[in-house]
Amino acid sequence: MQEKISFSQIVEAIKAAVEKLDEEKRYLDRLDSPIGDGDHGRTVSNAFQKIVPLLEEGEANNDIGRLLRGIGRNLALSAGAAAGPLYGTAFMEAGKVVEGKTDVGLEELTKMLEAAKEGIKKRGKAEVGEKTMLDTIHPASESLKESLSKNLSLKDALQQMRKAAKKGMESTRDLISQKGRSSRLGERTRGHIDPGAASSYLIIEAAVDFLVDKLS
Ligand code: ADP
Ligand code: MG
Repeated sequence: MQEKISFSQIVEAIKAAVEKLDEEKRYLDRLDSPIGDGDHGRTVSNAFQKIVPLLEEGEANNDIGRLLRGIGRNLALSAGAAAGPLYGTAFMEAGKVVEGKTDVGLEELTKMLEAAKEGIKKRGKAEVGEKTMLDTIHPASESLKESLSKNLSLKDALQQMRKAAKKGMESTRDLISQKGRSSRLGERTRGHIDPGAASSYLIIEAAVDFLVDKLS
């Protein structure tokens, strides 16, 4: 079984995530309506649409780190809402740990997600349990670490990660928002899934579904 993901598979996995965010933008806007300003789907989808040219140009240098840093810089420029710069930081930090790499295995993926998570924590001054995208990304990152220590196959590790991310997203329903626009609503945010946690899950789901298919 193939235990590495190539540069072009990374490109395709990100493209799958961009498409997923476009398909689900109305759903994400709906999640953002009761506890935010109803723009999360459009904001995130628009920001990710703008990285499509970078995915197409990336082939020329075949460097995963450089590609992710470029995507991150681009996303960070999408002003107006919280999520763009947070995702921007996540991609930039993930890129830094795989500088010059033309393919990545479970060890690199684990480092990438850990770096992305730390970037979001720092930039958003957020902790787990505050009803944000971190509540999806943190358990996903922990799951990869565990799979790496157990020597799981890349495919199994990706599937476990997707499960952990989904559970994390669903956990936000019972949480009270303590970060961002929705934090002003306090107790009233309970009972709603956090839109950022949902978009993070959709990104992970789309990328994993694409990659798992290639690994089988
Ligand atoms: P805005 O609230 O500015 O309209 P978006 O709708 O694009 O921003 O994104 C809202 C999402 O961003 C939230 O659901 C949450 O997951 C995430 N978020 C907001 N603030 C923070 C923060 N400080 N740290 C981590 N994530 C955050
Ligand atoms: Mg919003």
